[in-house]
Amino acid sequence: MRVSAYPLVDADEAAALVLNKVAVLEPEVVPLGECSGRVPAQDVSAPSSLPAHAVSAVDGFALRAADAGKTLRVLGESAAGRPFAGDVKPGTAARILTGGVLPDGADCVVMFEDVRDGGDSVTVPAGLQPGTNFHVPGADARQGELVIPAGWQLGAAEIGLAAALGIPRLVVGRRPKVALMSTGDELVELGQTPGRGQITDSNRWALLAALREAGAEVHVLGIAPDRPEELRTLVVKALEGADVLVTSGGVSVGTHDLVKPLLETLGTVHVGRVKLKPGKPFTFATLDGGKVAFGLPGFPVSSLVTFEVFVRPALRKMQGFAKLDRPRLPVRLGFDAHAVGDRTEFHRVTLHREGLELVAQTTGSQSSSRLMSLAGAHALVRVPPGDQGLSAGSTVEALILSLP
Ligand code: AMP
Ligand code: MG
Repeated sequence: MRVSAYPLVDADEAAALVLNKVAVLEPEVVPLGECSGRVPAQDVSAPSSLPAHAVSAVDGFALRAADAGKTLRVLGESAAGRPFAGDVKPGTAARILTGGVLPDGADCVVMFEDVRDGGDSVTVPAGLQPGTNFHVPGADARQGELVIPAGWQLGAAEIGLAAALGIPRLVVGRRPKVALMSTGDELVELGQTPGRGQITDSNRWALLAALREAGAEVHVLGIAPDRPEELRTLVVKALEGADVLVTSGGVSVGTHDLVKPLLETLGTVHVGRVKLKPGKPFTFATLDGGKVAFGLPGFPVSSLVTFEVFVRPALRKMQGFAKLDRPRLPVRLGFDAHAVGDRTEFHRVTLHREGLELVAQTTGSQSSSRLMSLAGAHALVRVPPGDQGLSAGSTVEALILSLP
């Protein structure tokens, strides 16, 4: 048996090292319509107040609160987009509709339901307070107020807010360009029937989905055979237009494992093995020109778990996300969990609610080839190495992939 030259690195140390080695990409200006999922590279402040003017929150009459209890002369109407030009003087009122600008002189709005409408006149109730039923300028956002901090993900509400403030484009972190390659002589394209000893290249599709979810722009290179020269030619070509190389397979200790030696010739391999199950052969290298390479293990669950632990946070850092990790929540274990051997195990679990608690159940066999252990899993639970493991009933922290 060949022995790996690479030391077994603690998974947390390896994750910290990876984050340390990747740099935030230079930001770019993007039209608001294409900003969904992107990350502002700088704080966004309100260029003007929202609303810009005092506007009515209801349909009714604008008047002076001091005129409470009186019958007032109706001067005109202020509708949304069609403000009333005149002043509301003592003894007068203006009809007003939701979103209509509060006329000068008025200091409150009374709802239609609360008045006696006489057409040219209106009788309003007693006991009115100034400042009722309208939004003051800047009530939603004051001019200069920080509205979207750098590092937040832009969703529908943030994009709506930017549009309301008249901001047509934003400076956002660039999406990393990722070249994705599967390695292995046993692999055939999806849609082909695998012959004896062959399997469908499923990692490409899984990693493509994971990369896109993490915000990457992916260039799929397809399948590389286990031949050093062909692999090298493909990788060198792919790296021309990429920030990141992600490969799967070809990193464990075996005669056909060619990725580590190749990365050694193209840059520096910082991590060649990690104390993580699944995912021990995970490989990370920095390459010339500030590029990085992730050599993920071939087994489907190993490649996706190492993607979660190492690649996703790195891609998020490159885009300028403030939050790099998945959320962590306490969960109660519904089963005894044991890590086999000397590596931290990321046990895949489903969650269900019992009262206010989240209870975790195993997804069954945790074999690194068994994608069924990850499909439908809500969370990953870290099981420490050693005999003790974690017992049913104990509360532990889980890395949340989705909530039930
Ligand atoms: P390797 O690290 O290249 O020795 O790969 C380990 C195992 O992972 C292989 O024996 C395959 O069963 C599996 N494997 C490797 N690459 C892929 C892939 N692209 N899609 C699905 N399974 C793969
Ligand atoms: Mg292989």
